Amino acid sequence: MRYSVSQIIKQGLTGNRGWKPVWREPDPKPRYDIVIVGGGGHGIATAYYLAKMHGLTDVAVLEKGWLGSGNIGRNTTIVRSNYLLPGNEPFYELSMKLWEGLEQELNYNVMVSQRGIVNLFHSDPQRDAAVRRGNAMILAGADAVLLDREALRRKCPFLDFDNERFPIKGGLWQPRGGTVRHDAVAWGYARGADRRGVDLIQNCEVTGFDIRDGACRGVETARGTIGAGKVAVCVAGSSSRLMNLAGLRLPIESHVMQACVTEGLKPVIPGVITFGGGHFYISQSDKGGLVFGGDIDGYNSYAQRGNLPTIEDVCEGGMALMPTIGRARVLRMWGGVVDMSMDGSPFIDRTPVEGLYFNGGWNYGGFKAVPAGGYCLAHLIATGAPHPVAAAMRLDRFATGATIDENGAGAQPNLH
Ligand SMILES: Cc1cc2nc3c(=O)[nH]c(=O)nc-3n(C[C@H](O)[C@H](O)[C@H](O)COP(=O)(O)OP(=O)(O)OC[C@H]3O[C@@H](n4cnc5c(N)ncnc54)[C@H](O)[C@@H]3O)c2cc1C
Repeated sequence: MRYSVSQIIKQGLTGNRGWKPVWREPDPKPRYDIVIVGGGGHGIATAYYLAKMHGLTDVAVLEKGWLGSGNIGRNTTIVRSNYLLPGNEPFYELSMKLWEGLEQELNYNVMVSQRGIVNLFHSDPQRDAAVRRGNAMILAGADAVLLDREALRRKCPFLDFDNERFPIKGGLWQPRGGTVRHDAVAWGYARGADRRGVDLIQNCEVTGFDIRDGACRGVETARGTIGAGKVAVCVAGSSSRLMNLAGLRLPIESHVMQACVTEGLKPVIPGVITFGGGHFYISQSDKGGLVFGGDIDGYNSYAQRGNLPTIEDVCEGGMALMPTIGRARVLRMWGGVVDMSMDGSPFIDRTPVEGLYFNGGWNYGGFKAVPAGGYCLAHLIATGAPHPVAAAMRLDRFATGATIDENGAGAQPNLH
């Protein structure tokens, strides 16, 4: 069923009884050409682009819970392409361009809102770094504007410009950045993949791999063995645990990351703001809640909940940035398990096991990467060659020394 204004009117006048389920609930077949493990953003988008771009429709997505139960439905909805390094920036800019046409492409309202993102700087060296980053973005075809203190004050008068410790000197603004409704992205891609014949199978945890003679021939699941010509793993925070079952050790740690939302307030935050003096970022949802978060919890975990000391640290960042936030009441807080890579950059690659592919290492920021992550993994699976914008996102880059050290944080995920 195509969604349209006339459909809304028709359904509205007939008691909304004609809407169809958004995707089917098929039982798993004994074998597929391609099995994708993980029904999050990257897994479903990969299935969608395999079908749409390459005509490959004998595809199943196996999800252990329900579609969108992982980080795709837990993130703070920020999209941007303000990266620095050539191994990353063209990839994120491709993602941004895909976001810009996504609603029309999917015929689904994912609420793409290009309200802009500003990264603040608080010192001269930070301003120099912002200028460098902005130039790198412009060279990759993205948009970047350097705002001085007064230009920023006109946009965000509520910020504490004269904070004793972190006075605000300006910001790097990406006008095309913004927010997208996170779980709608999973639903929209799921509907698009299902319409093209992809089987989306929920409550189907993958518990092992069928690997013979160095090649992956299928997966063991809670609903039996499923054969496959190729298997792609897109399980974000569960990456290291699951790939361990295939005998692979990844340069990834899993950590909890938390976020909070306040009661609904009148519009105050014009876009997305990230603090440069600590780990804190904030935006305002369409319902008025202030959505904010910060650093990961400081220990490895697979639990989708965190603890209060990190929230205290996040709130301290918020108070330093905009003291008015102290009056807002937090309604909810939650956590997701993020897959922290050791150089702060992701992987889209084949593995040493033939026919087994991997997408992960998304750190704090894999939501914005969903369109390009799915697009590039589908390209790799279908053509056998990496997409040019993801060619550096290799699993062997720590062995070869070709790391994409976006944040210079090395083996300290909390410094990403
Ligand atoms: C609090 C928070 C805030 C964030 N904010 C942002 C942001 O503002 N912007 C941004 O770009 N990114 C953000 N992120 C990161 C982003 O959400 C993730 O990087 C991204 O969603 C990960 O990719 P995914 O959507 O495919 O993962 P997920 O949605 O986690 O998908 C992985 C799926 O795999 C499934 N799975 C796991 N193991 C198995 C198994 N054995 N068998 C079958 N299925 C399995 C899981 O159930 C899950 O559904 C945030 C993350 C968190 C936690």
